[in-house]
Amino acid sequence: MINWDEIETVMLDMDGTLLDLHFDNYFWQEYLPECWGRLNGLEIDAAKAVLTPRFKSMEGTLAWYCLDYWSDELDMDIFMLKHDVEHLIKTRPYTIELLCKLNEMDKKVVLVTNSHEKILDVKLEKTEIKEYFDFVVSAHELGSPKEHMEFWKLLSNTVQFSQEKTLFIDDNLTVLQTAQDYGIRYLLSIARPDSQLPERSSTDYFSIKDFREIF
Ligand SMILES: [Mg+2]
Repeated sequence: MINWDEIETVMLDMDGTLLDLHFDNYFWQEYLPECWGRLNGLEIDAAKAVLTPRFKSMEGTLAWYCLDYWSDELDMDIFMLKHDVEHLIKTRPYTIELLCKLNEMDKKVVLVTNSHEKILDVKLEKTEIKEYFDFVVSAHELGSPKEHMEFWKLLSNTVQFSQEKTLFIDDNLTVLQTAQDYGIRYLLSIARPDSQLPERSSTDYFSIKDFREIF
């Protein structure tokens, strides 16, 4: 399915690709509304009704991924709250096997994430995946989210890679579209980013059910 001889660089998203998106979904959709509701005298459903459109309106922006932004907006320490549910931070099936294989094949392995640096460090430590990467790049460090072309231009100043010889795997279809527009040749998505939700129906990009399909 993949001709590995044609690929020098493998770029990987973190949440929903290497790690189970259940942690993030549960945090933003359940735990945070519950805690915020309690502070503001609202039942969880009422809190969700207030917060969901606020989250939605920021989707795809760097602020949406920024813990400091939401801490200010909601007047809560979001980073501390995340600690309460950090037992849910887990790798997806065969993530470690994939990373080992890429290292064995001597590919340049780059983590490209919109995750805020604070929680990025917690996730890397907890899952012990940092050692497998040649580069770890946070969109916050570059100042633009992966959904924007600007991110890819800035990335190319930080990490040397050829678009023609790069494989990029991400569960976010908007991000894949931008990467494609930038000229990344090999693109794959993830069928089931959240272990607690059903598989998504087919998309514009070939989606992997199990990393063993590609090694
Ligand atoms: Mg993702």
